[in-house]
Amino acid sequence: MKLSRILSNRNDISRRQANFLIASGRVAVNDVTCRDAAAEVDRFSCVRMDGDIIQEAEACHHLMLHKPAGFLSATLDDTHRTVMELISPELREDLHIAGRLDRASTGLLILTNDGRWSRQLTEPRIKIPKVYRVSTAYPISPETPHRFAEGIWFEFEQLTTSPADLDLLSPCEARVTIYEGRYHQVKRMFHAVGNRVTALHREQMGNIRLDDDLAAGEYRSLTAEEINLMP
Ligand code: URA
Repeated sequence: MKLSRILSNRNDISRRQANFLIASGRVAVNDVTCRDAAAEVDRFSCVRMDGDIIQEAEACHHLMLHKPAGFLSATLDDTHRTVMELISPELREDLHIAGRLDRASTGLLILTNDGRWSRQLTEPRIKIPKVYRVSTAYPISPETPHRFAEGIWFEFEQLTTSPADLDLLSPCEARVTIYEGRYHQVKRMFHAVGNRVTALHREQMGNIRLDDDLAAGEYRSLTAEEINLMP
């Protein structure tokens, strides 16, 4: 929200007064004077006027969860357990998922209450790499890396997927990197080349890597460095 709007939302301050107060240097955002009435200020910032709090900063949460199989990537569901049940009640209220995993899939799931930050992770235009370890029902054919690099035609969406990388780890195992996040994308890509995914584990999103020692069902807060590593 614009800084002037945050001030003028108070009953006793008009929009004109708000602009004047800001221009006079009487308003600070996170303890730094801000003279720009049009500055965008989120709910995680503290706004003060003459030292008095106008807006309290809300706590910002960014979590890495090691998603176990069998949990739905959703906030609420009537039939299945959701990943939110793994998060402590005082935290889960406000959180959303930045990039879902299928119910059977495991690995890195990011949860946050910071919508602006999570949009950067999931926005297809930004092309954040997502790295998956994949097991397949049949040996991965020698053409598969080339087919994935060329892009796979998705009939339903009428589009070709962005080039993806495939590193073969064993005849029926690969590490696959995709740069978008379409519905069941990795499974559908393998299906298109006549194979079937039997297990899918997300290891990394952008520069955020799932900790090796984070057991399935456990989570931790992202570090400031991990949060800032995102574009
Ligand atoms: N692609 C899939 O098919 N499933 C996932 O859970 C993630 C990517």
